[in-house]
Amino acid sequence: MPRKLDLRSGRPVWSAYRAPAVPTAALTRDAKADVLIVGMGISGAMTAEALTAHGHAVICIDRRGPLKGSTSATTALVQFEIDQPLSTLSKQIGKASAEQAWRRSRLAVSNLAARIAELDINCSPSRKPSLYLAGTVLSPSKLRDEAEARRQAGIAATYLTAVPLAEKFGIDREGAILSHGNIALDPRKLTAGLLLKAAERKARFHAPVEATAIEDSADEVVVATRDGPTVTARHVVLATGYELVDIVPTAAHRIISTWAIATRPQPRKIWPGAAFIWEASDPYLYMRATSDGRVVCGGEDEDFVDETRRDGLIADKSARIAEKLGRLFPHLDVRPEFAWTGSFGTTTTGLPYIGAIPRHPRIHAVMGYGGNGITFSQIASEIVSASINGLSDTDAELFAFNRR
Ligand SMILES: Cc1cc2nc3c(=O)[nH]c(=O)nc-3n(C[C@H](O)[C@H](O)[C@H](O)COP(=O)(O)OP(=O)(O)OC[C@H]3O[C@@H](n4cnc5c(N)ncnc54)[C@H](O)[C@@H]3O)c2cc1C
Repeated sequence: MPRKLDLRSGRPVWSAYRAPAVPTAALTRDAKADVLIVGMGISGAMTAEALTAHGHAVICIDRRGPLKGSTSATTALVQFEIDQPLSTLSKQIGKASAEQAWRRSRLAVSNLAARIAELDINCSPSRKPSLYLAGTVLSPSKLRDEAEARRQAGIAATYLTAVPLAEKFGIDREGAILSHGNIALDPRKLTAGLLLKAAERKARFHAPVEATAIEDSADEVVVATRDGPTVTARHVVLATGYELVDIVPTAAHRIISTWAIATRPQPRKIWPGAAFIWEASDPYLYMRATSDGRVVCGGEDEDFVDETRRDGLIADKSARIAEKLGRLFPHLDVRPEFAWTGSFGTTTTGLPYIGAIPRHPRIHAVMGYGGNGITFSQIASEIVSASINGLSDTDAELFAFNRR
């Protein structure tokens, strides 16, 4: 049986902005397609758009409906900067692989910006600088080394000491890495836009439909659904977010809880460049601004999955996040107009698992864990669509389930 989580609760900021409706139909009889995608969040949407662009007949199903999972709770800082610093990741998986992961992440964010422009998706995309502040995980000197490690890998990074950080950004901290090229966007509008592109190319959407069992053979995969009809496809893509289907190996990841707030619009008070800001600390704090000048700020992660306990902490956690935000920017109105919480996946390296499931070459999993989930969903859509097209992506091994 598939796992069911209460993925999120509270009121995410995106409910303030209207995303286009994505029409779905009931699944009333058995169906066939080239590819069945299970899950209609950002990962399923990106994969559906990529596969229909290559002419595949695609069916998408979702047990809740489009945009109803974690994608609606994300704070949507689309960053190439992987949660795990390059210097730390190098110690875990070796310098060459760590640099390869960082470079691919950088490419993915550029590819996503190009994809949004080419498809003309109205999701308020905006390229942003980012500031990674010295904290308990990386001291100023370690942060300086991290900037150097990035530059050696071909990824531009500038180390700012306390004085330029205060002068340029009004932030009172000992040091930070400044980088450029991340994207702020509205995740629901992006997801809906990608799904609607896939629909124009004849993708069919069925919801609410829950996949309950998967049987694969040499030529096809048959997916059973809770209400009876089956879907038969040449390939299945499991884009089920943090709710893993049994067939997916679980050992490599764990689910934790996270919280976020958004303030009222205050465009004149936003810090220079509306840079993404996050701390090299544990627990960390991160923030961005929306296109109309709300501050979205999150963090305070806790290492448990109990959804009742998680939801019960919304008031305390949002007060704490607001207080920390106020300490960094005393001139802001930090009162939360939106406060929400969600479950969140992490892996030991921070890297996602993407690709065919071991011994099941026709069942692919797209699992963009952690704070770089959207960037990893873009990488996943590239790797999985290449594989279904009979091609091999140069970085597929790096993210594969059976990687070393
Ligand atoms: C508070 C918070 C802040 C975040 N901030 C960021 C950030 O700043 N930047 C970033 O890149 N990422 C961030 N993330 C992570 C990001 O939101 C996720 O990586 C991303 O939304 C996952 O998208 P998805 O499509 O894989 O999953 P989802 O959006 O959860 O979609 C999966 C879908 O699969 C469906 N499903 C599951 N099982 C079945 C089944 N058996 N049958 C049918 N349907 C099924 C579910 O109903 C769901 O709709 C954040 C997450 C949270 C919670």
